[in-house]
Amino acid sequence: MQLSHRIETLTPGGSDGWEVFYKAKALIAQGVAVTELTIGEHDIRTDPAILQAMDASARGGRTGYSEIPGIGALRDRVAARITERTGVTTGRDNVLITPGGQAGLFAAHCAVCDPGDAALFIDPYYVTYPGTLRAAGARPVSVPTRAEDGFRPRKAAILAAAEGAAAKSLLINSPNNPTGAIYDRETLESIGGACVEAGLWLISDEVYDTQIWDGAHLSPRALPGMADRTLVIGSMSKSHAMTGSRCGWIIGPDHAIARLISLATHTTYGVPGFVQDAALFALDQGPELEELVAAPFRRRRALALRILAAQNTLRMLPPQGAMYLMLDVRATGLSGNAFADALLDAERIAVMPGESFGQAAAGHIRVAMTIEDEAFAAALERLCGFAAGLAATQAG
Ligand code: PMP
Repeated sequence: MQLSHRIETLTPGGSDGWEVFYKAKALIAQGVAVTELTIGEHDIRTDPAILQAMDASARGGRTGYSEIPGIGALRDRVAARITERTGVTTGRDNVLITPGGQAGLFAAHCAVCDPGDAALFIDPYYVTYPGTLRAAGARPVSVPTRAEDGFRPRKAAILAAAEGAAAKSLLINSPNNPTGAIYDRETLESIGGACVEAGLWLISDEVYDTQIWDGAHLSPRALPGMADRTLVIGSMSKSHAMTGSRCGWIIGPDHAIARLISLATHTTYGVPGFVQDAALFALDQGPELEELVAAPFRRRRALALRILAAQNTLRMLPPQGAMYLMLDVRATGLSGNAFADALLDAERIAVMPGESFGQAAAGHIRVAMTIEDEAFAAALERLCGFAAGLAATQAG
């Protein structure tokens, strides 16, 4: 039986950008020791105190259907946190609790795009973006950025893509996965200006907002005139090492959230009550816990800066936020794909090719800083040595 065009073409060409990841997993399954630096998963587990809160909630009876928009106390807590962090008055009616940021991205695009509408996103991008937009029925259109611009989008590029495609929305992500870029006020103002000029909704993926190494996180929803046309995606995954709990949110104008609640009724039917109670407990611990969860990445970024400074083959734009390094491997003469593949074969180190994140990241690799410090430093040293060897061969 024929499946829908929508599902058959979710990842066109059969490639989903995860080939090196799958190859590494297959090697690991065969018993080969592989240093895994591909996906954005903390090497610590969810804090035991959060698990205790989850357990107490479930045992206390919160195992039935939960309120579909999210439990009131969590919606209030998220709203207060957003108000505090951005200065934009936010209430319960501006918040929908979702099963993770990923579900929020899908729902947000369902809310602003009709089938076939163009939805813009910035290249390089988080791997799931184009498929998520297609799943929502939209037509993904990329806006290229350049390494020389620190992978920040230019207003003219957004406007050109918007006009060419008659787009309805623009998806941005700051702090950025994979590049580590944080958009400064000027960049966000030009993005906001482009949205106003082209009549776009702005969907702002802020799931890394607690992982800031350089500069400050600014939400574009806080810019004048933007709250009415912005949907913010947030999540407990990265901030509290709760990736498996599947708890996130969408923040937006109340009329949009009301429609999104209706969409949730017909799709997810809410998030488990015991997970929401655990998320509420976690948020109540305040920024100290968030800093504790972010600390390993801060340390490893500092290690990486030292290691990269001692060589001259690989170039790195120091990440301003998030848990990844983007390394320019072009001096080795290889593409990101070929480098990642050769590195896995030769050194048993798995990284993501830049090409998995779009054409703007070609010739780069993304290294997740997600293993213990000493092993991370050792792997990075070996990676640099491997790159230097390739460059020397090329020169000779
Ligand atoms: N956005 C970005 C940029 C991400 O990197 C991720 C997860 N890696 C997500 C959204 C989704 O996160 P979650 O669904 O776990 O909240």
